Amino acid sequence: MIDLNDIGRGLKEKISKVKESGIQRSTGRIVYSGDGIIKITGLSGVQYNELLDVRGGYQALALNLEHDSVGAVLFSGEDKVRFGDYVYSTGTTLEMKVGEELLGRIVDPLGNALDGLGEIVTGKSRPVEYPAPAIMDRGKVNKPLQTGILAIDSMIPIGRGQRELIIGDRQTGKTAIAVDTILNQKGENVICIYVSIGQKASSLAKTVNTLRSGGAMEYTCVVCSTADDAVPLQYIAPYSGCALAEYFMYQGKDVLIVYDDLSKHAVAYRAMSLLLKRPAGREAYPGDVFYLHSRLLERSAKLSEAKGGGSITALPIVETLAGDISAYIPTNVISITDGQIYLESELFNSGVRPAVNVGLSVSRVGGSAQRKAIRKISGQLRINLAQYRELAIFMQFGSDLDAETQKTLSRGAKLTDTLKQRQYLNYSVKEMIVLLIVSQSEVIDGIPAKKVTEYNDGLLDYMRMNRQDLLDAIDPDGEISEELRGKILAAAEDYLNYTVGDGEAHTDV
Ligand code: ATP
Ligand code: MG
Repeated sequence: MIDLNDIGRGLKEKISKVKESGIQRSTGRIVYSGDGIIKITGLSGVQYNELLDVRGGYQALALNLEHDSVGAVLFSGEDKVRFGDYVYSTGTTLEMKVGEELLGRIVDPLGNALDGLGEIVTGKSRPVEYPAPAIMDRGKVNKPLQTGILAIDSMIPIGRGQRELIIGDRQTGKTAIAVDTILNQKGENVICIYVSIGQKASSLAKTVNTLRSGGAMEYTCVVCSTADDAVPLQYIAPYSGCALAEYFMYQGKDVLIVYDDLSKHAVAYRAMSLLLKRPAGREAYPGDVFYLHSRLLERSAKLSEAKGGGSITALPIVETLAGDISAYIPTNVISITDGQIYLESELFNSGVRPAVNVGLSVSRVGGSAQRKAIRKISGQLRINLAQYRELAIFMQFGSDLDAETQKTLSRGAKLTDTLKQRQYLNYSVKEMIVLLIVSQSEVIDGIPAKKVTEYNDGLLDYMRMNRQDLLDAIDPDGEISEELRGKILAAAEDYLNYTVGDGEAHTDV
């Protein structure tokens, strides 16, 4: 006789010994599909941000976990998936390919090559979403990241591991500053990552060409999602770029990452959230749009020496409308970053390029990383410029100017001219020191108005050719002695006499 109870007990025992396999895959079916969003029922055990496998080999990202369904966004195959298609969970979250092989390449946010130079095989990857370094693992920002742009390196210095926002209206030279900074990292041992989010393909092509012809692609990777890419790709692009940056940072290297731009990133996220039927808040952005950017930017850090001392310097870009920096996304990102470079259309159109509004731009941590000599000689620069601007506004109403006021105005105008800088023309630290010393001395009174830029270019050439000894004598991390200062000014005077010819002072405004 067989005892049924025995069988039952035996079965129970056997079942209890069966070990759960590592990955639990579950299967569900699509009950809604539209605009790149799918709704799936029947999936169980899915985690937030899990990668889903849709029939036919498409990938989707699980974003909404509800009690009877899962909302996900499709990376591709929007028009191919159908009602009732099977969806499988994978047990993994999204990963980005990482490795040295990505330098010099243009990739999409999943690490696939877009430049036609063949598939990238690295065998390594990192999660796209990753926690920011802990407080105890962070070090002090103490090394400068030279942009090569005089107005920025002198007054708004950026340190390695800092997050500095570039903000301004459209067409004010935001991208130009970021690209110039990347070009200036040649030979500086900084790995650069340029993340393009939702830009026109034509703008991106221009940027890539610039980087390539400037020889910057050797140490740069471009992660791109253009305006016509699926919205979810635009959404993950900055996180993917950051994952790549982290790979280098945790090896102890210095990385510069540009997010161009986070306004378009927020717009992509808004589109996705609205389609997922999440509640809309201010300006129709979802409630977690602050977290969207804070969790991204917090991942940029300077690691402590114990953790290898690597760093990620982030230059997020935000576009404003009609200079309104108090809109939702600008205020959010301003409060997350360690300072901002504020660009103004008015300045840009009046020929002050880079169009940096010195009054509204700050760098909260970079000062301690600034080269000592530059810090010393640019201490008065902000104040001098502010005084000039105040006076210039006031003088629009009056005509009678005494000699002293006239001089202040003329000097201010020439100082402003000194800070104008053509695109792709990066100054070295020593060149900056020469320009800063000359522009804040009496020599500048002798330069004819409107000829300052020309004079500065010529002066630097002259110094390189005839007075290399003076350039060699400058120690960017030390003091500039009075004697050296005197010699530099004498050389500047020599060159002035040579260009002006008669050697007489021209003080016309
Ligand atoms: P968008 O809003 O379209 O992204 P943007 O703010 O990124 O624009 P850029 O594309 O960098 O602006 O620059 C706009 C134009 O201004 C470009 O044609 C660029 O060549 C020019 N430009 C930028 N900086 C300078 C400069 N310092 N000197 C001269 N021209 C400049
Ligand atoms: Mg741009």
